[in-house]
Amino acid sequence: MIDSDMRVKGHANIFAIGDITDFKEIKQGYLAQMHADVVCKNIKTLMNGKDKLAAYKGGQEMAIVSLGRKEAVAQIACITISGRLPGMIKSGDLFVTKTRKALALKST
Ligand SMILES: Cc1cc2nc3c(=O)[nH]c(=O)nc-3n(C[C@H](O)[C@H](O)[C@H](O)COP(=O)(O)OP(=O)(O)OC[C@H]3O[C@@H](n4cnc5c(N)ncnc54)[C@H](O)[C@@H]3O)c2cc1C
Repeated sequence: MIDSDMRVKGHANIFAIGDITDFKEIKQGYLAQMHADVVCKNIKTLMNGKDKLAAYKGGQEMAIVSLGRKEAVAQIACITISGRLPGMIKSGDLFVTKTRKALALKST
């Protein structure tokens, strides 16, 4: 159970991110990354001796499931689309290139 600043309830310096948190939202990896961004910011704030922590407000809920190399089905908010358009977002390399770039890893 977490507070809005992602700290585990009842603990001043323990944070939680990802699926384990009780924030009311879909459990997704890209949202865990957003949790991490808030927690990094808040740890830096605490390390600087400040106490005004950022709040996690939740992200856009979406799911994209690849259907082969070119097509996919996506649900974004209350809209569901399938075919080449959602496939262009994810199905090429399943976000591997994007993720490696975010982690500052060389492309394969
Ligand atoms: C089939 C499927 C498809 C998905 N597709 C997507 C997608 O397309 N996009 C997306 O954004 N998200 C997707 N998700 C969700 C995404 O995988 C999770 O939201 C994300 O992995 C959560 O990350 P996490 O680090 O919180 O937990 P996890 O990735 O579950 O990591 C927790 C880790 O803790 C380890 N662990 C557990 N207990 C212990 C213990 N006692 N001691 C030590 N280690 C322990 C586990 O082995 C695991 O490695 C999908 C999930 C599933 C199941």
